[in-house]
Amino acid sequence: MQAGNNTRVIHHGDSFAGDTGTVMPPIFPTSTFAHGNAGGFDYTRSGNPNFRILDGVLASVEGCAHATVFASGVSAITAVVSQLKQGDLVLCEENLYGCTVRLFEQVFAKFGLRTQWVDFTQTEALEVIHTSQPAMVWLESPTNPLLKVIDLEAVCAITQPLGIPVVVDNTFATALVQRPLDLGATLSLTSTTKYINGHSDALGGAVCTNDPEWHQKMVFSQKALGLQPSPFDCWLITRGIKTLPLRLKQQMANAADLADQLARHAKVNWVRYPHRSDHPQHQVATRQMRAGGAIVTVSFNASQEQTYALCKQLRWFTMAESLGGIESLICHPATMTHAAVSAEVKAKLGIDDGLVRFSVGCEDLADLQADLDQALELLA
Ligand SMILES: *Cc1c(COP(=O)(O)O)cnc(C)c1O
Repeated sequence: MQAGNNTRVIHHGDSFAGDTGTVMPPIFPTSTFAHGNAGGFDYTRSGNPNFRILDGVLASVEGCAHATVFASGVSAITAVVSQLKQGDLVLCEENLYGCTVRLFEQVFAKFGLRTQWVDFTQTEALEVIHTSQPAMVWLESPTNPLLKVIDLEAVCAITQPLGIPVVVDNTFATALVQRPLDLGATLSLTSTTKYINGHSDALGGAVCTNDPEWHQKMVFSQKALGLQPSPFDCWLITRGIKTLPLRLKQQMANAADLADQLARHAKVNWVRYPHRSDHPQHQVATRQMRAGGAIVTVSFNASQEQTYALCKQLRWFTMAESLGGIESLICHPATMTHAAVSAEVKAKLGIDDGLVRFSVGCEDLADLQADLDQALELLA
């Protein structure tokens, strides 16, 4: 019988504990290793016991053959993109994470990499795959901050016979909610900074795959581009992931309830939560995602100032970037993540002044509910 998720995240294949009997793996803060050791280690940029322990747990949760860890989600993205060459076209979902967009437009464009941006919730986007013949397709689902859900299986059904690799940024869902590789993706990429570590105290990234060639490419990029994490951060993330199923369960239950509470409020234009029946891609979301996740996005019928004041009024939701930790956070894109974005682009992305993204934490639901109620009085 195959072990369940709780068991898999708690136990790892090898702890490199030697004859000490230590139950938790040690940290290996070493830059180099004696030549010819049994573990096959030589220099930490190209491998370390703490990387290998985390690789094993991540691959087990994702249900795949290989995982490679990096210093951050952005390092993982860099590792993948570095495998492309001048003139290659990447067909991207138009709503990718801001840092991914910045990397493509301000860094890789200088090296001759081309991008094309389409809305993958529209069936026309699937035709674009045939007409533009990209070297790679880059997806994210659910997207940030509007939680658009893309039918990953439908996209992969087209790319697979054409031999086009598909990358899915799975940070928002995690492998416990959605398994991109099982739906046909080539690479499942995650910022382990978020839910996987879950305690907002380390940065990390990972790329999972069943393709041995892509695995070799990731190992090469980790070493050749210097994208490796620190042994200590890997150790923290290995500790953090042990409670991922427990944390997510509480966070998702809280999020589903808060989404309903918000939807009932008179000053709410709409609520986005993948498993609510009013989500625009609800059918795909329920088929593809085992649960609705723990991010809720809301559009308040309020000015930028009123929305900002509401965010500040909350006691248990800290106004901060990032997501996925045990603590609840709130993000007001108009004054935070998208403050520098032009009004025109914001309108195109669907980001208005009253838009707010909640990353729901593990606090007691009653406290979060009461907190929202008192802050919402500002909009009365
Ligand atoms: C945070 C995030 C990233 C970047 O990860 P870092 O660990 O901050 O470098 C990439 N994609 C998504 C969807 C994210 O949420």
